[in-house]
Amino acid sequence: MGKERIGIMGGTLDPIHDGHLRMAQCALQRAELDRILMLPSGNPPHKAGVTPADDRWRMLCAACAGIPGLEPCREEIDRTGTIYTVDTLSILKEKYPKAELYYLIGADTLMELKRWREYGRVLELSRFLVCPRSSRYSQDELEAERQRLRLLGGHISWLDMEPLDVSSTQIRAALLSGQDAPHLPLQVQEYAQACGLYGASPRIAEAAAWMPRLFGDLTAKRFAHTLAVAATARQLALRHGLDADRAEMAGLLHDCAKCMPLKDMQRLARENRLTEDESLLESGALLHAIAGACKARLDYGMTDPVVLDAIRRHTTGAPGMSRLDMAVWLADAIEPTRAPYPLLEQLRETAEVSLERAILASMENTLAYVRKSGKSVHPATMQTIQWLRTLPECQ
Ligand code: ATP
Repeated sequence: MGKERIGIMGGTLDPIHDGHLRMAQCALQRAELDRILMLPSGNPPHKAGVTPADDRWRMLCAACAGIPGLEPCREEIDRTGTIYTVDTLSILKEKYPKAELYYLIGADTLMELKRWREYGRVLELSRFLVCPRSSRYSQDELEAERQRLRLLGGHISWLDMEPLDVSSTQIRAALLSGQDAPHLPLQVQEYAQACGLYGASPRIAEAAAWMPRLFGDLTAKRFAHTLAVAATARQLALRHGLDADRAEMAGLLHDCAKCMPLKDMQRLARENRLTEDESLLESGALLHAIAGACKARLDYGMTDPVVLDAIRRHTTGAPGMSRLDMAVWLADAIEPTRAPYPLLEQLRETAEVSLERAILASMENTLAYVRKSGKSVHPATMQTIQWLRTLPECQ
């Protein structure tokens, strides 16, 4: 077996964007790396006013969740004081003595390398993969620098990658002026806008307090899904003239109990007399909605009954459910990071036009699927389907 090939995507990552993700994914495939450590800096010596490491870390974890081969790495975040790449590489080399390290950089950084502390040692510790990026340097200047570093013993190659014109600086400027930022993963955008990072006013006053708790309560994948649901619920609410902030809040909290062990969810349900319904109490897939509404109230301080109802109803639905409940329910089913399923695209299109028709189509689809596997859907879902069929929008 050959040596393990580990990539390192280091940087301030403030915030992580599609350029970083494209670099990492290209390096995995084209340079045949086994995995990439996504390594946000702790306290960068050369940049002032950087977003707190914990926020950058959570956004990074949300962006990488579900992308095979990308591993968020806390090596620099967990160290105090000024941190230099040479120290990080020495530590990683000790940790993975048999691995070959490949540091990923953009073309602009190639020209900065000579200013890194002990850069000769850095070149000994790691190979470098350079990604094309527009910069103030010509291709000839870049190539000359690459050759110079090679003569010093560096292993530096170009990565074959379609350039992507984006920087964290551009993204911060867009967010500051209240705009959506291109080439920013949806989950990262949601996190930043909900909390009001980068100088914008927070969209949800409580979001900055909720994020650390949510991140702790959920797996990284569930956290990423949660952010995508919140963003989608907001978009659907805006599209259909509903209260976008409430839809977004319900999206943020809808799965807050989802990662609890079933027995803890059951205890929460019993202690708070949430239900006597055994079929709910035995199913984490259903119970987490009513447990979530309770947890949202107790742990997150959510008191708005409209938001709590949307959380409570997001699995089974309920006859008479509000259009805001529907927006949250559908956001959960169609958010953009969902793994594809046959009806998905059609549901996304229908949800743009009619919440009622989309939720009915989705529930009928679930009903057919569940029946095929010889099981039955929860009575509340059956009643919701029957109720939806009577609505004028569904005729
Ligand atoms: P900022 O605008 O804050 O300086 P950035 O977008 O350059 O941020 P960093 O976190 O500083 O992002 O970048 C980490 C590494 O990724 C650097 O080597 C940088 O050159 C590289 N990089 C970032 N964005 C791109 C991109 N779009 N294409 C190629 N390389 C990139």
